[in-house]
Amino acid sequence: MPSTVALLGIAIMSCVMSASVLASLLRADVRGVPRWCAAYGLAAIGIVFAWADKSLPPQVGTFAAHTLFLLGGLLIAQGTREFFGRRAVSRVECVAVVAIFLAVIVLTYVEPNLDARVALTSAYFAYVRVAIGWTALRYRPRQRPKYNYYFLAIAAFVGALVHVARSVTYGFGFDHQAAFLDPSPLNVAFLGLGILSFPFLSIAMVMLAHDRLAERLERLATVDELTGALMRRAFVERAEAMIAAARVKGTPLALAILDIDNFKNVNDQYGHAAGDRALAHFGTTMLRSVRAGDLFGRLGGEEFAVLFPATHEGEALQLTNGLRAAVAAAPCAQTPFTFSAGVDEFGAGDTLAAVMARADAALYTAKALGRDCVAVASPDDEPDERVAQPG
Ligand code: GH3
Ligand code: MG
Ligand code: MG
Repeated sequence: MPSTVALLGIAIMSCVMSASVLASLLRADVRGVPRWCAAYGLAAIGIVFAWADKSLPPQVGTFAAHTLFLLGGLLIAQGTREFFGRRAVSRVECVAVVAIFLAVIVLTYVEPNLDARVALTSAYFAYVRVAIGWTALRYRPRQRPKYNYYFLAIAAFVGALVHVARSVTYGFGFDHQAAFLDPSPLNVAFLGLGILSFPFLSIAMVMLAHDRLAERLERLATVDELTGALMRRAFVERAEAMIAAARVKGTPLALAILDIDNFKNVNDQYGHAAGDRALAHFGTTMLRSVRAGDLFGRLGGEEFAVLFPATHEGEALQLTNGLRAAVAAAPCAQTPFTFSAGVDEFGAGDTLAAVMARADAALYTAKALGRDCVAVASPDDEPDERVAQPG
């Protein structure tokens, strides 16, 4: 059996396995996966046509294979852009694929030229791989581990190199293809390496889809669904890390505890669902208003905390009062509300629990002063003179 035909048999199995593994992720609803899965399915059928070329009427297998490969390439590039939240369909790319399709027809039926056809299709496959690799590097989510994204980019770029070499070899006449699936050593090497890039790419895609699922789970475990704030456990974990970092760097750190005023009345007057909408609105306003490095968490119910890195108590008082003003300036349509807050700064050796307790005491001072204001903790638990109020 000619070795190119054996290689195609391996490629069919590899594409079927890739499509099957990607199909197992279809229900996970990860963007891009359906296109990737369809691309591998089309590639498998395309290779079957190429494999059965000799048993079919002249050129039918070659033509069908090329059509399916072109569509498969298009889908895999589109799926990658879709995965990264970009617009999947590129009009220029679609027009280019139609042009390549017409050129394949000409080079197959009108003016048969096998070398030119191989050069053209290999250039296209190189483009598809470069598009995949570039998209992965350009739009890689910065907060996720790099490994999976670099794996995909490297697999794509290495595959692109093989196709560029194949395109140049036959396009510039360095070698000649005597027949479709020419079993010459060079063609076998090109086909073998090209085929090897199929499973590498699909493994990378599965890794990416799993990373997306892991990200979803991590988000479910750390971010409060209603308000978008960090859940208490996640807030405490990250706050402890920021406290340790501030200690090492010798930078100040301040904490505010916020509690929505008379929230029970909101629930009683407008119902629990309206209360939920008000909390969601509060979360959105807060996330829009805190600084990039600030940590915003929901401690429970309608009580929240903000950790201000590199910030002294006085500035934290101003910042928290700014948040209070931002919430007042963007009232929740049906159920306007205010919040009160207590602020404290970390001293040397202070634990998170100790500062939280002092900020909480200051919060009660703010409530006692009539609500809708911010108070700073005082060492002797007496009402502090530094209170920020509206107006
Ligand atoms: P104060 O100004 O003294 O803080 O008064 P308050 O009414 O806000 O205080 P209280 O702690 O008595 O009431 C808090 C209310 O918040 C009671 C509880 O039902 C409501 N609440 C807590 N979590 C949620 C939630 O997730 N959704 C809704 N709708 N209400 C919540
Ligand atoms: Mg309250
Ligand atoms: Mg409360």
